[in-house]
Amino acid sequence: IDTIHSVLAEGGTTLSLEFFPAKTEEGMGNLLARIEDMVARLQPTFVTLTWRSAFADESLWLKIGGIVQREFSVDVLLHLTCHLPRADLVRVLQNARDAGIRNILALRGDPPIGEDRWQPVPGGFSNAVELVHLIRELHGDHFCIAVAGYPEVHTECWNSPDLPPSEQSFAQDLTFLKDKVDAGADLVITQFFYDVPKYISFHDKCREIGIPAHIPILPGYLPIQNYASFRKFTSWCKTSVPNTIDKALEKVKDEDEQVKALGVQEALRACRQLLDHGHRTLHFYTLNLESTVTSVVEGLGLLPKANLRELSWQRHKASGNRV
Ligand code: FAD
Repeated sequence: IDTIHSVLAEGGTTLSLEFFPAKTEEGMGNLLARIEDMVARLQPTFVTLTWRSAFADESLWLKIGGIVQREFSVDVLLHLTCHLPRADLVRVLQNARDAGIRNILALRGDPPIGEDRWQPVPGGFSNAVELVHLIRELHGDHFCIAVAGYPEVHTECWNSPDLPPSEQSFAQDLTFLKDKVDAGADLVITQFFYDVPKYISFHDKCREIGIPAHIPILPGYLPIQNYASFRKFTSWCKTSVPNTIDKALEKVKDEDEQVKALGVQEALRACRQLLDHGHRTLHFYTLNLESTVTSVVEGLGLLPKANLRELSWQRHKASGNRV
């Protein structure tokens, strides 16, 4: 099994897809069928599985990641946050390794709802740099490590909730990103954005401050699929919404199908802009939904020819088997 980094290093256009884990065994069967279908159709370079700070236990997350890695012929990147004490992180990392995982997205995680500042859990970490160090210390080069980047600055670097970040905060945020790379990260995946020039400028600044060209920076894109959730996510992450998108969306906000069509159109526009500027590693936040991302990939002319491999998890689902 290759790590993601070795595949990305070959250059060329790549796709990657983010999913969030199911909460139940039944949900797991449906999710696996969905992932398998999207992997067969879109042939992404890798898929990622998010981490929930509210996991009662992480066994289902690990089971899903392990099955996708072993059975779907695609690399898996597991997200991991510092919501657990160090000793638990050590255990989770070993379990991930034992399940055949070679790629980890090392994150700090968000403060609990209602709190605006991160407080480390007892025996835990203050930021993602410390998690990157832990992974390298315990596992050497076994894992390819990804970290998160913020084209519009992480929300905690805003000077106040209504005052956009200063140049200084922006520079500080970039320094923190470079710290993660210096600690041993192999690639960066960004927060979603809709203002493509802002992403391009962020990317250039990363290179200017010394994040080397062999560290891929993957633009994260969240297609608009639903009006309410788009407004919720953009306001939560303080993502700027260009005027043209804002106006077009307001006109169709009560028509779900038109919102989705607009989402595809805007995603195509953004991805073409990225590709035209040589940013060829497209990472999609799927929200576990298939049709919008598939339409975008198809619209970009990146849909591979049909893959006739038998889809075993689809078969499981159709026959009503529990998995
Ligand atoms: P860090 O890089 O540690 O940064 C956090 C904040 O601390 C930033 O404001 C940074 O500027 C500041 N900072 C960093 N280092 C220092 C330092 N040395 N001193 C002072 N301040 C510092 N969350 C989940 O819960 N589960 C997921 O699966 C998940 N997946 C994500 C995937 C992507 C691609 C992205 C972009 C985000 C994801 N998140 C996820 C959200 C993420 O956990 C939050 O954005 C979180 O608030 C910050 O995590 P981080 O790893 O970027 O933190």
